[in-house]
Amino acid sequence: MQPFAYARPETLAEVVALLERHGPGARLLAGGTDLVINLRDGRFRPEVVIDVKRVPELAPGIRAGDGGVLVIGATTTMTQLAAHPVIRRDLAALADGAAVVGSVQIRNRATVAGNICNASPAADTAPALLVHGAIVVATGPDGDRRIPLDAFFVRSGVTTLGPAELVRAIEIPAPGSRIASAHQRRTRRRGHDLASVTVACGVDAAGLVRVAFGSVGPRPLLRVDETGALGDPEATDEARAAAFEAIFADATPSATSMRAGAEYRLAMLRVLGRRALEAALGRMDAGAAA
Ligand SMILES: Cc1cc2nc3c(=O)[nH]c(=O)nc-3n(C[C@H](O)[C@H](O)[C@H](O)COP(=O)(O)OP(=O)(O)OC[C@H]3O[C@@H](n4cnc5c(N)ncnc54)[C@H](O)[C@@H]3O)c2cc1C
Repeated sequence: MQPFAYARPETLAEVVALLERHGPGARLLAGGTDLVINLRDGRFRPEVVIDVKRVPELAPGIRAGDGGVLVIGATTTMTQLAAHPVIRRDLAALADGAAVVGSVQIRNRATVAGNICNASPAADTAPALLVHGAIVVATGPDGDRRIPLDAFFVRSGVTTLGPAELVRAIEIPAPGSRIASAHQRRTRRRGHDLASVTVACGVDAAGLVRVAFGSVGPRPLLRVDETGALGDPEATDEARAAAFEAIFADATPSATSMRAGAEYRLAMLRVLGRRALEAALGRMDAGAAA
């Protein structure tokens, strides 16, 4: 590992100033579960590592913001997400996704901002956050800017964050009606491997279905079921299969990945898509009955 300076600022302004001073030579440290591996492997060779865990504006926590927005602090861990009663009730796919990240030890360290900023196509919080319309609150020298998560991901390891920007929080806008959601994934070995396929489905009270999926291309994708078949209890199996074909049309899994072959991933995408939809519809029914 190449030597680097270590900074532990206590204010957001100090973090931004360090990012401005060091540019691409700076790397933020949250839980470190991705960063440390990249440092050890020599993929990242920063001049300075900036530990953000003492910055109050990035503190872990899930709270109601103005206008019914749900605000998730940048350093909220997977363990905290998976256990939080509001996340489990209103963003069930996010609780599902956070609960299957790595192992207990990883989930106790891994943060939600680290998960999306690492921008792995296999990130387990990404599909759920996309389905629930998450907005990334980025802070930089010019203050805050809000980026819809769908406009944040570019490709593996690359986001639309500016060079001196960091993620301060993630906001979930208040939905017009309740969204019931579920997350499904496939891995080779639980606890030690990233997903070969991830899918989240969300259905609203009008039956509109949103599907987000990952690990089958350079970034997670979000699609809306324009046919209406996925949320229609009267739809035939053929109509639902056709709707999924349209949704998954842009999946482009790597032909050379060591995790799973492209054909297998495409087949699993359809299986997990159906399972996630059934789980989301079941949760909608359960919520309606409650
Ligand atoms: C054994 C193991 C198993 C894993 N299993 C899974 C899994 O099943 N599913 C999954 O999705 N991931 C998995 N991961 C990956 C990792 O745990 C997650 O991506 C985690 O959420 C990263 O969060 P972190 O806080 O540890 O990020 P860090 O490692 O601290 O940071 C990750 C990246 O984001 C940047 N960053 C961090 N915070 C901010 C911020 N606020 N603003 C801007 N940039 C920031 C860092 O500079 C770095 O480039 C696994 C990792 C390991 C080691």
